[in-house]
Amino acid sequence: MTLRVAIIGAGPCGLAQLRAFQSARDKGAAIPELVCFEKQQDWGGMWNYTWRTGLDENGEPVHGSMYRYLWSNGPKECLEFADYTFEEHFGRPIASYPPREVLWDYIKGRVEKAGVRDYIRFNNVVRQVTFDEQTQRFTVYAHDYTHDTLTCEEFDYVINACGHFSTPKVPYFEGFEQFAGRILHAHDFREALEFKDKDLLIIGSSYSAEDIGSQCYKYGARSITSCYRTTPMGYAWPDNWEEKPLLQRLENNRAFFADGSSKHIDAVILCTGYKHHFPFLPDELSLRTDNRLWPMNLYKGVFWEPNPRLIYLGMQDQWYSFNMFDAQAWYARDVILGRIPLPSQAAMIADSQQWQARELTLETNQQMFEFQGAYIQHLVDATDYPDFDIAAVNETFLHWKHDKAENIMGYRDKSYRSLMTGTQSPPHHTPWLLALDDSMAAYLGEPVTPIKSVG
Ligand SMILES: Cc1cc2nc3c(=O)[nH]c(=O)nc-3n(C[C@H](O)[C@H](O)[C@H](O)COP(=O)(O)OP(=O)(O)OC[C@H]3O[C@@H](n4cnc5c(N)ncnc54)[C@H](O)[C@@H]3O)c2cc1C
Repeated sequence: MTLRVAIIGAGPCGLAQLRAFQSARDKGAAIPELVCFEKQQDWGGMWNYTWRTGLDENGEPVHGSMYRYLWSNGPKECLEFADYTFEEHFGRPIASYPPREVLWDYIKGRVEKAGVRDYIRFNNVVRQVTFDEQTQRFTVYAHDYTHDTLTCEEFDYVINACGHFSTPKVPYFEGFEQFAGRILHAHDFREALEFKDKDLLIIGSSYSAEDIGSQCYKYGARSITSCYRTTPMGYAWPDNWEEKPLLQRLENNRAFFADGSSKHIDAVILCTGYKHHFPFLPDELSLRTDNRLWPMNLYKGVFWEPNPRLIYLGMQDQWYSFNMFDAQAWYARDVILGRIPLPSQAAMIADSQQWQARELTLETNQQMFEFQGAYIQHLVDATDYPDFDIAAVNETFLHWKHDKAENIMGYRDKSYRSLMTGTQSPPHHTPWLLALDDSMAAYLGEPVTPIKSVG
């Protein structure tokens, strides 16, 4: 009987899995029957931008957390697919920090070439997954919104590629209920112009805080105040951006901070992170973790140790992204195809514990991305995913960190060498701070004269 594999989600991880199987099929392997369930109408996951917030057209929680004007926050050279380069896709080298539409186009290009769209059931939400110990098979229940039917099918493997940047962590602060302005989580942030000429308070000190604050600065917020629980971001911010210790309370439109100071504010954006959230999984199949480099109970970072027929992709904190998902998908594929054996459960647990012990010793950013690079190398070495120069990617991460420390509003004007083709990327035609049109046409086209002043 042909094996059946369910893939939940057609974002970069789910698509990596489809591409991995298609690559094996093209080399002559017999591959399982694949069904990819995708709740949105199109593929690309987070990169498939939506203007919607709250509930989607089917009454489901909106998956997307991306906003207009989002540009890659790391060099594209660090996430490039080893089997499909930017140069192949765009027919020429492009600059290093593309806006999201350009990255979406790149992601789509690979899977269009691979011809895997027919495996995907769009507009299908997975509602529940169960496992039968006797048959050793999963049952996947889904709601097909195109036909408004409920489906129920059996599978030998389930690959959970549903992402973990969609369900917000939303803290409460005293005075929120009396505040006369808007309070939203980063998940619901879309349009920076909403905050033009406003005094904006950002709670948090990680990537969302840094990037959403920068967007709002770029599109004309009057002032930005960001506040942190433990450590400030510490960049050399523009004059109208101030970092403060954590918010204590709001009194009407005044925010009071832990250092005793206070400020007038018009709006609050909670950049307070996301939960790993799997409402369709029963307790015994559900990964519980914070956002970290080595989530426990995942052998090789992907196989659910209590039942390795359940595979999680991309659940790590991400320095590396697309090419890490590929390395995981190729490895998972080879286990499913019987090319790589899984050891005993005890051996899987011992292996994970070793990785986590290493993770716990990491202190610097450099140690962290080198750790993730070593993990990817370990997976790549075991499969036919094209080997790529991970040491050089780590070096690019180091330059990126340095560039950000030097100029947080200017780091996206730098460009790097592709680590897949060796080609140096050109500088972008317009400095990021002046590039207000983030469309693919503007990005790939000629320089534009800014029509608005900034700052
Ligand atoms: C604001 C923001 C900015 C980011 N910027 C960058 C960046 O610059 N560079 C970078 O490399 N990474 C960035 N990321 C990380 C980004 O999440 C990854 O690049 C990538 O999208 C993760 O892929 P994924 O497939 O794991 O998850 P996702 O892209 O989230 O895709 C998961 C898919 O699963 C589907 N799904 C979820 N639940 C169900 C269900 N029950 N049934 C059916 N389908 C379901 C969703 O609709 C979605 O299509 C950013 C993330 C966010 C939130």
